[in-house]
Amino acid sequence: MDLPDNAIAARGLVKTYPATRTMPAMRALKGVDLVVPRGSIFGLLGPNGAGKSTFINILAGLTRKTAGQVEIWGRDIDQRPRDARAAIGVVPQEIAADVFFTPRESLEVQAGLYGVAKARRRTDELLAALGLTDKADAYVRQLSGGMKRRLMVAKAMVHNPPVLVLDEPTAGVDVELRRQLWAYVEALNRQGVTIVLTTHYLEEAEALCDTIAIVNHGQVVACEATSQLLRRLDTRTVVVTPDETLSEAPRIGDFDSRLRPNGDLAVAFKSAGAGVEQVLAQVRAAGITIRDLRTEDPDLEDVFVALTSGSGETPAQL
Ligand code: ADP
Repeated sequence: MDLPDNAIAARGLVKTYPATRTMPAMRALKGVDLVVPRGSIFGLLGPNGAGKSTFINILAGLTRKTAGQVEIWGRDIDQRPRDARAAIGVVPQEIAADVFFTPRESLEVQAGLYGVAKARRRTDELLAALGLTDKADAYVRQLSGGMKRRLMVAKAMVHNPPVLVLDEPTAGVDVELRRQLWAYVEALNRQGVTIVLTTHYLEEAEALCDTIAIVNHGQVVACEATSQLLRRLDTRTVVVTPDETLSEAPRIGDFDSRLRPNGDLAVAFKSAGAGVEQVLAQVRAAGITIRDLRTEDPDLEDVFVALTSGSGETPAQL
């Protein structure tokens, strides 16, 4: 069987929620292009209201898109909706426990909904994989919050989808369970499952994801390998207030220099490759008299804030 290069490919995805009596129409996705390569652990990061859940709900078939195209595992969601749905498992953010079922029954019912033949069901395997074997026949209402959450993951996997989407998998989850869930997600990924997760824990994205997309106000503002995003962290900036007013950013050696709206000159440098002294030497060599200066050290939080502040600043301006 030919495997698709991309687990998910969205092009020009738009979602407008219609106006209600109390709320104006809301454009939650404003033309999103996003490609999730097969085999990745892909993080979708963004502040509340960015459009992450809307995107996931469209993938899950729970929300209708307004415009654009989406393929899941190479299957267009308009042309082959059933095939597209079969390729994806979604773990919702809210725990929706079936209080009248045991975990075993819950998985069997879910498998039935997906039309998985009895002989091909993996109930015991999933219960074991998620540490629920002991509780297989307990009522779901007797499970702890963490166990319920693991059951949600198991439910999303009953039809053995090649793509698993987790919406805020560890929100409100204690550290130990978080680590267990991460370990399971990584194990699934090693078995070939492509993982997409939304989170607003930068630490989680950093620990798990090989690629991160940052979404804000319904738009993708960055999408790159986690290592590349982290590399921005060694970019420090020397901010110089020049004695004279500059009309444009002068060349400062090989460094990236920009003029800020307030007239300060920001010179970015890799802390691994150069020091403040070298930057200052080049600033002076460019004929600039330094009235004042400071350095700025971004961290991932800063990258995130800069990308989502809506100020239009690009990462290079950090
Ligand atoms: P996130 O998951 O990143 O927090 P959402 O996708 O939930 O963001 O929301 C994106 C925007 O769409 C928000 O402004 C939210 O208020 C709005 N929105 C989400 N769901 C609905 C809905 N069912 N009806 C109207 N507006 C909605």
